[in-house]
Amino acid sequence: MKTSLLGAHVSIAGGFTNACLHAKNTGSNAVQIFTKNQLQWSASDLTPDEISSFKKCAVDENLTVAAHLSYLVNLGSTDESIKEKSILGFVNEINRCRLLGIKYLVFHPGSNKLLTEKETIDLIAVNLNGIINQTAGSKDVILVLETTAGQGSQIGHRLEHIAEIIELNGNNERLCVCIDICHIFAAGYDIRTLSEYDKFMNNFEDIIGFNKLKVMHLNDSLKPIGSKVDRHAPIGKGFIGLDAFRFIVNDARLKNILMIVETPGADKEHKIDLDILKGMIKKIRKD
Ligand SMILES: [Zn+2]
Ligand SMILES: [Zn+2]
Repeated sequence: MKTSLLGAHVSIAGGFTNACLHAKNTGSNAVQIFTKNQLQWSASDLTPDEISSFKKCAVDENLTVAAHLSYLVNLGSTDESIKEKSILGFVNEINRCRLLGIKYLVFHPGSNKLLTEKETIDLIAVNLNGIINQTAGSKDVILVLETTAGQGSQIGHRLEHIAEIIELNGNNERLCVCIDICHIFAAGYDIRTLSEYDKFMNNFEDIIGFNKLKVMHLNDSLKPIGSKVDRHAPIGKGFIGLDAFRFIVNDARLKNILMIVETPGADKEHKIDLDILKGMIKKIRKD
């Protein structure tokens, strides 16, 4: 078995086509980007030239592309202004992904320190339902709920949270899941031994189901298990260690999953991380 879709989260500074260059520099067939400054609500409209040049280079390089939604968007907010901006920002981002031919849009569920977890989950599901209905013309863009470390009042640090949001949306086919390895570890799930890893993956199958898994973020963790703090480390350089990543890249259940490193640094550091991952894929002997 071979992990087929592997790449890094890269910068589009200097233009969208630079994402394709970064992928080339790191020998990747996949890439993840922010389609706009993730720390601002607004973005200038995409130009026809930006759209066509990016689509062309992604096809030329045979890239599978994911976008990550702005961290400002919070579907769990009860602040009217933030709620309104979040829904509009999410809808706009789906449209940008459709125009750019981006297949996956990864996002964090949301948070609300004034509500219970259950109330926040219900609110997120309602807002998501509205967004799905408003973007019926963008069915090709898959909305990918990411597991979180559980910092503050973040929803998504239990697999059950993600399952419930999907369930409340009638198991909508446009809603899928991203497992971030650093986040689940910080949230308290151990995957460092084969038995713990299998336990987690079997749990995932029972609670959510592999049919919903489309993306994985392969990041080591600078903080120990259960810390609930989201700090990414280079592969093998954090508290998770190499074994978990060896299990992942050799797991037949994950064969067609888009795998993205969101580790510190740029092309040089990402290439080191990606080469470590590729180097751990077991060669199947044919004798
Ligand atoms: Zn992530
Ligand atoms: Zn993270």
